[in-house]
Amino acid sequence: MAIDGPAGSGKSTVAKLLATKIGYNYIDTGAMYRGLTLKAIREGVDLNDEQALTLLAESTELDITDSKSGGIKVMLDGKDVAGLIRTPELTKHVAYVAKVKGVREKMVGCQRSIAARNRCVFEGRDIGTVVFPNAMYKFYIDAELSERVARRCKEMQANGIETSYDELAKDLRIRDHKDMSREIGPLKKAEDAIYIDTTNLSINEVVEKLAGYIKI
Ligand code: C5P
Repeated sequence: MAIDGPAGSGKSTVAKLLATKIGYNYIDTGAMYRGLTLKAIREGVDLNDEQALTLLAESTELDITDSKSGGIKVMLDGKDVAGLIRTPELTKHVAYVAKVKGVREKMVGCQRSIAARNRCVFEGRDIGTVVFPNAMYKFYIDAELSERVARRCKEMQANGIETSYDELAKDLRIRDHKDMSREIGPLKKAEDAIYIDTTNLSINEVVEKLAGYIKI
């Protein structure tokens, strides 16, 4: 099952709840790009050096496991880095890593091998278009920018991270633009994906809406 959409659209929360509801594993593919970005920063790799990033990706072991009750584990070379990959600083750097062809090829390979082991709800940017063009169900989850910013603000405050609405709006706009305009695996709705605007919907309403389409 494929769920794509921009940052703050609510797709992570929805994908997680939907996966629980239908007994599938939840796979957050953004966490994989974030994990590799963390390693690149730690190792001092130049984020503008595509060849170095490709080599780094090729020599990195990445896996996502959904322990269901205990949330997801983001395994980077055998260590769980789930708690280290959501800082605003790291978030700003992910796009440099995610636009590299060799990096995306590695990620797509990892994601397909995860899918070969289990039934999963995959959430990301290129899932319905590139990773699983034959997914059983494809959804594109969207919301107006102002609402996405407000949601992100609330989420960050809840996690004790200081931020301002204007700063977040600027960051989200830049990130959307980078994700939508990159050459390989850009964020876009797959032609056969179901489009859902969540601006005026609660999380539960969105989950119910998606579940309504699914016959398994
Ligand atoms: O979903 P999340 O906001 O954690 O994703 C972080 C970043 O990872 C995105 O902004 C995007 O640049 C990249 N990403 C991607 N392809 C995916 C998932 C995430 O390029 N399938």
